[in-house]
Amino acid sequence: MRELLGTRGWSTEPSDLAAHGRDWLDRHGQPPLGLARPASVDEIAAVVRLCARHNVAITPHGGNTGLNGGSVLSAGRTGIILSLARMNRILSIDAVDLTATVEAGVVLGALHQALADQNLAFPLHLGAEGSARIGGLIGTNAGGSHAMRHGMMQDLVLGMEVVLPSGEVWEGARALIKDNAGYQLRKLFCGAEGTLGIVTKAVLRLSPLPVAHATALLALPDLQAALRVGALLRNRTGDLLTAMEFFGEPGVIMALKHVQSLARPLETPGPVYVLAELATSMPDISADDILERTLSEALEDGTVLDGAIAASRTQRTTFWRLREEIPEGQRLEGAQLKHDVSVPVARLAAFVAEASAAAETVLPGVRVNPFGHLGDGNVHFNLSPPQGCRHFASADARLSEAIYEIVVRHNGSIAAEHGLGQAKVALADRFRPPTERALMRTIKASLDPQNIMNPGKVV
Ligand SMILES: Cc1cc2nc3c(=O)[nH]c(=O)nc-3n(C[C@H](O)[C@H](O)[C@H](O)COP(=O)(O)OP(=O)(O)OC[C@H]3O[C@@H](n4cnc5c(N)ncnc54)[C@H](O)[C@@H]3O)c2cc1C
Repeated sequence: MRELLGTRGWSTEPSDLAAHGRDWLDRHGQPPLGLARPASVDEIAAVVRLCARHNVAITPHGGNTGLNGGSVLSAGRTGIILSLARMNRILSIDAVDLTATVEAGVVLGALHQALADQNLAFPLHLGAEGSARIGGLIGTNAGGSHAMRHGMMQDLVLGMEVVLPSGEVWEGARALIKDNAGYQLRKLFCGAEGTLGIVTKAVLRLSPLPVAHATALLALPDLQAALRVGALLRNRTGDLLTAMEFFGEPGVIMALKHVQSLARPLETPGPVYVLAELATSMPDISADDILERTLSEALEDGTVLDGAIAASRTQRTTFWRLREEIPEGQRLEGAQLKHDVSVPVARLAAFVAEASAAAETVLPGVRVNPFGHLGDGNVHFNLSPPQGCRHFASADARLSEAIYEIVVRHNGSIAAEHGLGQAKVALADRFRPPTERALMRTIKASLDPQNIMNPGKVV
């Protein structure tokens, strides 16, 4: 490895190994045999060939913000970590094609910045955008707050270059919207969590930069009311509606308690909140007026208890921070059980009510903190132990079991946007129809017969 990559590209320093040994939530992983930091696709291909020859497993590593332990070694396995951090160049931005071609190590926030300078946007937004890298976002098929309008990562990637488990390079970095010459191979790598190959380059689909945003924060009596407001906004604001997030009073309380410089922006407390945002790249449209007119109906008929439309960029940031700091507030509160699930939008309120009741039956007093993306039915159904307790009194597995069964009953998914990683492999295997499981195993075995590419994840 040292011959291939030099001292900058290969490390066995204990501090480097430790720094790449654990996941973001510090729940999974152990120090790898070594850390590869290649600087080119040729170096990656050479590393993969060498690993294949010696049967050494490789775990690709982006910003390490994944929430299911995909970017660190699986329990009981050895192998190397391959970090994309040095492959962080934006190769080209094309304002006619509306595409950007980037190396897989580019940080999402850095891409946003570079595009804004050219009045362009890449419409994927999530709380970890200051650290998450394009390869990791493809690996998990990330969703985020704007997925309801622009889709998930798989909808935003037109082409890619991938180093396959054999060390061969698939040159698929084409900038085409229409390309039906066979199987949609690029989609296979979206959500594969590094188990089928290492993405080294991607062609991303861009949008014009919005010139105006209108952002409202609403307090509502319950989730049914939130769904009604959601439907109203969808019907009346059409293409302008970019994000619709929901959260509850328990999340707000934890965020306010633990995160500095957060304030309660509305006088009337929830119990449920919706953050809705319109965005447009057309200067002649007054998004604020459209939002205000639409929401006045909901205020008059009592669907909305209280609400405000951001009067400035600072206030818009305040609203978004309240939503985005909820996971951090809960993390700082102590032990938690996360469930990243989705159900059809119309069933969201019923799901949350049933799952909350089931959790209470399993562990009386357990604190339920559901929040997420109202526009696409993605609920982060997260739990904290009862007030004053530091853990879940050995009820963790029973709580999750009860919640996932309700998800399945509502025709939902047990893994909405964070993927499976190592945390949910066994669970997914249990809930997948047998044919789907067999198909996934066939794909994995045909591309990676040695099982050296991120073993222990996904299948
Ligand atoms: C505060 C916070 C908020 C978040 N909000 C959201 C959200 O709203 N929506 C959402 O979807 N996610 C969210 N996440 C989860 C996380 O940010 C995403 O899963 C993101 O896509 C991970 O990117 P990463 O670069 O950190 O990848 P990593 O964590 O490094 O890796 C993730 C997976 O991709 C694989 N991988 C990494 N690079 C490559 C590559 N080049 N080729 C192939 N496979 C690769 C890894 O092996 C691993 O399996 C959030 C996380 C945090 C901490």
